[in-house]
Amino acid sequence: MSTSMRAVRLTDHRLVVSEEPLPIPLPGEVLVRVLVVGICETDLQLIQGYMGFRGILGHEFVGVACSGRWSGQRVVGEINCSCHACETCRSGLPNHCPHRTVLGILNHDGAFAEYIAVPERNLHPVPEDVSNSQAVFTEPLAAALQIPAQLPALRGQRVIVLGDGRLGQLCARVLQAEETNLKVIGRHPHKLDLLRPLGIETALESDATPDHSADVVVDCTGTSSGWNAAMEWLRPRGTLVLKTTVAGTQTLNWAPIVINELQVIGSRCGPFVPALKALQQKRVDVEPLISARYPLEAATEAFELVQQRRVLKVLLDVAAE
Ligand SMILES: [Zn+2]
Ligand SMILES: [Zn+2]
Repeated sequence: MSTSMRAVRLTDHRLVVSEEPLPIPLPGEVLVRVLVVGICETDLQLIQGYMGFRGILGHEFVGVACSGRWSGQRVVGEINCSCHACETCRSGLPNHCPHRTVLGILNHDGAFAEYIAVPERNLHPVPEDVSNSQAVFTEPLAAALQIPAQLPALRGQRVIVLGDGRLGQLCARVLQAEETNLKVIGRHPHKLDLLRPLGIETALESDATPDHSADVVVDCTGTSSGWNAAMEWLRPRGTLVLKTTVAGTQTLNWAPIVINELQVIGSRCGPFVPALKALQQKRVDVEPLISARYPLEAATEAFELVQQRRVLKVLLDVAAE
């Protein structure tokens, strides 16, 4: 193992591919040799200034553990590095630990690099019949699976997903598997086309007339526009699930929340074990979402591409197995 590595560093809204020292694992952490890493909407928000993060980006990865319990095995890693000692952690909410760092997002270098240090307890071995291209979706798929984890009685409910992008696509696949009465509303015909073969009803935003019919609206628009649309789609006492983080401050009209007695639920990271199981059992097909792949060296090109509206998931191939 050499003592330096290539990595993609975020400095002042700019990405630089640089030579970096290998990460030094903290107590309880192991080094993971990164194989494939995905670019996510959150990465784009971080470049815009969300969270004020400076460091190595990247939190959707599959790699090989260099030591510890899973040494030599392919692994994926949960992104919240929690203390597991405070009251929040001990109450069963380690993802909300006030002392946590988050891989590639908050005070912890991420996976756009040849190596990343990850708490050993965050790692999950990847089943042999799940490919790297599938496993790299574990983290965002887990985030989509957080919706049924928070709303367990979704079956048969009228659910509308707003947004046909990366996260909307994953949420739609999960909610279809949950046997909801689902419709996805988006702005991109070719993205909606990926959903119809799965039996998912779709509509272009410009063709759809909101009718206060939805039990649940899941906002995956990645913009503050989803809020107003959700207010028009939800039935009284309906539930809005907010899945996207938008950098900066939004101005929103609160009145419909009160008038229609709506519930608003924030939804972030989700469970990895069901995500890996869904991939292994082929219940959620993720590979059609891959638009392009680049070597790590070409990360800045990859980030330019991912900002184009037609593009879904862009992967960086960091190393072969
Ligand atoms: Zn992400
Ligand atoms: Zn804690």
